[in-house]
Amino acid sequence: MQADSIVLGAGIVGVSVAIHLQMRGRATVLVDRRGAGEETSYGNAGLIQREGALPRAFPQGLAALFRYGLNNRTDMYYHPDALPRIAPFLARYWWHSRPDNYRKVVNAYAPLIAASISEHAPLIELAGAGDLIAKEGWYLLYRDAGERDAAFREAEWLSRDFGIGHQQLGGDEMVRREPGVGAKLAGALHWTDPWSIREPGGLVVKYRELFEGLGGTVVTGDAMRLEPGTSGAGWRLPLAVEVLEAREAVIALGPWAGDLTGRLGYRLPLEVKRGYHMHYAQPEAQPLRHWMLDASYGYLLAPMVRGIRLTTGAEFALRDAPPTPVQVDRDEPLARQLFPGLGKRLDAEPWRGARPVTPDMMPIIGPAPRHEKLWFAFGHAHHGMTLGPATGRLIAEMVTGEQPFIDPAAFSAARFL
Ligand SMILES: Cc1cc2nc3c(=O)[nH]c(=O)nc-3n(C[C@H](O)[C@H](O)[C@H](O)COP(=O)(O)OP(=O)(O)OC[C@H]3O[C@@H](n4cnc5c(N)ncnc54)[C@H](O)[C@@H]3O)c2cc1C
Repeated sequence: MQADSIVLGAGIVGVSVAIHLQMRGRATVLVDRRGAGEETSYGNAGLIQREGALPRAFPQGLAALFRYGLNNRTDMYYHPDALPRIAPFLARYWWHSRPDNYRKVVNAYAPLIAASISEHAPLIELAGAGDLIAKEGWYLLYRDAGERDAAFREAEWLSRDFGIGHQQLGGDEMVRREPGVGAKLAGALHWTDPWSIREPGGLVVKYRELFEGLGGTVVTGDAMRLEPGTSGAGWRLPLAVEVLEAREAVIALGPWAGDLTGRLGYRLPLEVKRGYHMHYAQPEAQPLRHWMLDASYGYLLAPMVRGIRLTTGAEFALRDAPPTPVQVDRDEPLARQLFPGLGKRLDAEPWRGARPVTPDMMPIIGPAPRHEKLWFAFGHAHHGMTLGPATGRLIAEMVTGEQPFIDPAAFSAARFL
């Protein structure tokens, strides 16, 4: 089978890359070992985070490190036996999160995050997926006045410097907007720009259908079999009954990207922040209407198609270690206090996924530094659903030699080599 481009991985990032390549006239084959949008892009909180200009930094200061070290929190949990392996990564993550370094990251990241909604919007339209999208922003709920005030100050700065919309609400106003809230609140922050997805995996499926409608091909295969083309040019991928050959290949394997780039000789600092979700029945009276994060505890409640989805904060562990949904168990009583109508559990077991992370909190988007016609698109951490389409456009523009819509230099893998 011959193609112009192979895209490896059919999560939100790979599907978006494939659409943008196909739209530019590249005959593209999208490869996954599963169906589209069945891994990390299935289980997330579904926020298209236009406000996400501040990527999630590592805690600074001894007091914060001590608090997290106790491992009894809800927003972060770690496997002590994973620490020897991930400690070098955490040290680099901490270093990039120091105020001076972090400011550089924020400035480099801003143009990409600014394109989050403007790049999703045309794909949602073309895919006919508007019914999966809510456009009412999302809410951070504060139980503590000090935390509320700090958040309001930061939001004012983001509005001023990055043009991000927000509203500051009192606790009573929040309860008026979301009448099922039962906890006493000090206030709430409403990010007004973001959109949210009522079924993230469903949106990826709609995007895959769009890709096929544009003439693209989807096949099942094992990305780990990618190898240089026999004539010394391009790439080949043995499938079950034939061999796929193409001029260029894009690695968009999310948390598995490092397995393939490692085989190709790259030592990239890639780890994961695992996360869980559980669905709960909606109450008949006063169902949850908005996406809202309990800011003091770091879990989020989202009104999804299947019910109320509770998503957890980060878990530092080896990607394939057995699940330890400690945070779901810690979050659930807090969620029942915040939203007393939360119904019974709907899933037999919590879903587990792994956010693919880099130590400087930014994705890797661009050419493979030591291979011709090989491209990287992974490491989107907390913002993969947000940045899939912007990444797709950026990669496709670089592949086809167009002028990229933003400067891609900050996202190059070369920064780690
Ligand atoms: C709890 C939680 C909440 C989150 N909330 C949000 C949110 O609200 N907003 C947001 O923007 N982001 C959120 N994220 C992050 C987001 O989900 C990820 O950044 C994003 O889904 C990553 O997409 P991806 O396409 O890179 O990876 P994936 O969706 O994991 O796709 C990778 C694909 O590669 C395939 N693959 C792997 N190995 C092979 C192989 N050997 N051969 C073939 N195929 C292979 C997989 O099957 C998979 O389909 C959240 C994450 C979690 C865990």
